[in-house]
Amino acid sequence: MLTVEEAQARILAEVAPLASEQVALDEALGRVLAADLVAPLDLPPFTNSSMDGYAVRAGDIQGASAAAPVALRLVGQVPAGGVFAGTLAAGEAIRIFTGAPLPAGADAVVQQELTAPGDAAEIVQMHAALPIGANVRAAGSDIRAGTVVVPRGTDLGAPEIAVAAAIGLGTVAVTRRPRVAIVSTGDELVAPGAPLGPGQIYNSNAPMLAAAARAAGGEPVILPVARDTAGEIRARFAEAGEADLILTSGGVSVGDFDLVRDVLASLGQIDFWRVNVRPGKPLAFGRLGTVPLIGLPGNPVSAAVTFELFARPLLRRILGGTALYRPQIPVRLAAEVAQGDRRHYARARLRFTEDGTLAELTGDQGSHRLASLVGSEALVIIPEGTGSLAAGSVAMALLLHV
Ligand code: AMP
Ligand code: MG
Repeated sequence: MLTVEEAQARILAEVAPLASEQVALDEALGRVLAADLVAPLDLPPFTNSSMDGYAVRAGDIQGASAAAPVALRLVGQVPAGGVFAGTLAAGEAIRIFTGAPLPAGADAVVQQELTAPGDAAEIVQMHAALPIGANVRAAGSDIRAGTVVVPRGTDLGAPEIAVAAAIGLGTVAVTRRPRVAIVSTGDELVAPGAPLGPGQIYNSNAPMLAAAARAAGGEPVILPVARDTAGEIRARFAEAGEADLILTSGGVSVGDFDLVRDVLASLGQIDFWRVNVRPGKPLAFGRLGTVPLIGLPGNPVSAAVTFELFARPLLRRILGGTALYRPQIPVRLAAEVAQGDRRHYARARLRFTEDGTLAELTGDQGSHRLASLVGSEALVIIPEGTGSLAAGSVAMALLLHV
């Protein structure tokens, strides 16, 4: 039986990033950047004022103070978006506003608060001496032309979108969204919203996996439920042919109705089908033609946790993302956690305290208990072969929302 890490490595070795497409900035949120963003220009593009005040020559106001103001002659003004055509000469000042280009000849800006009107309209009094460069933002002081401002593989958020806009890009190259076909198997499954007959349950895995796939950057397609016959499973696999990833749920353990593995073996190939993990031991990975397929267990918690451990990294890899896995942090256990033979991923809420992060399990960890998933912020990793961990002991945990 494979360890979690071995299974993850086998999966990642089989897949490669998809092609890219150009999207407008207002569609770029949450997408993965497919090519480095290189600044074609300096930011700021020109040297400008960081204050409302007066552009001056610093040399002119040496020794100025409120008690001994220096009078300068006002020769013009430059608002943001404007340009002062001339050159500032000795003894002159130009009214300037935040973001306006520093006029030629000026080398500092005196903020308005350190000035006063003079006796005549064209005179302004400087009440402070300032060094060269005061209140001036030099061209390129934020970002130099030619530098990589955002490397490919980055998840685009508001800051990256802002930088793309600031360097003048209307569109960015992002990896195409992977199409994720979702096939639920089970004679007992009924679509939510329909009436429930005896012995039936609602199909919660399909909406959950669709949501998880979308959150991971995929484009989910929920196919009709496959009843527990080889024929129906085959038919769904045929419909899923255009997908970049096929996710099935249920039908991968050793019960008489667990047909997903048999059908996968007959139509495609199985790489492995057991991983030493709880929840989720029966987990199949293989491919149908060129399309990777992950056969997730039917139990909702097992399906959710194995999606997190195996399907999400696969999606991140085909998206070309730099970060494939969730971050891990050390946590202290609020109560004892029992351990069996397999690697256990326990659902937990986190409390951030002065003494570190405390993990409280979300109740009974049975793999049928959807309630143990609700509100979980982390998966606490209880390593294989460690025995039970006492309250207060430290374990690593995957952060689910980072
Ligand atoms: P299986 O792996 O098919 O043996 O299913 C294991 C357990 O998960 C059974 O109790 C199933 O009823 C349940 N189950 C399977 N598929 C789903 C689903 N799509 N939604 C909710 N529960 C499911
Ligand atoms: Mg089943």
